[in-house]
This record gives sequence, structure tokens and C-alpha cells, in this order.
Amino acid sequence: MKCYDCVQEARHDSEGIGVCTRCGLFTCADHSRVVRLPVHQPKGLGRATSRLPARRVVCATCHTAETTD
Ligand SMILES: [Zn+2]
Ligand SMILES: [Zn+2]
Repeated sequence: MKCYDCVQEARHDSEGIGVCTRCGLFTCADHSRVVRLPVHQPKGLGRATSRLPARRVVCATCHTAETTD
């Protein structure tokens, strides 16, 4: 699969490494951001958070949108 952002930039030499969890488009290592994500584990009445963060991949476009006011 081709990275969507690379296709937009007419680059065709990249390999997609994953799928953006927000927009669902394929993204390459250059255009993706791997972010830490705390995992909420429902436990009885309360909610606990896992000590270890999970991770998710977002493309650069979505990452910018998520971190810009
Ligand atoms: Zn790319
Ligand atoms: Zn995205």
C-alpha cells in the first residue's frame, strides 16, 4: 500500500507502515506519528488505567490537527 501523503506529494518510493487510526488512510514512516495512549481498564465500579501505555499510529495531518488549538 502507498502512503496517502506521499501520493499527494508525487512520491512513489515509500512503503506504508500502518493505518492512521483517525482517518484510516495508509501512512509511511515519514508521514506517521506513533503516540502513546493510556489504556483504561474497566474494573468493577471504578476505572483504572494500565501502567503501560498502548500506542497508536496517526498520520502527520491528523497529528497536527489533534495538537493544534
Ligand atoms: Zn508518506
Ligand atoms: Zn490521519
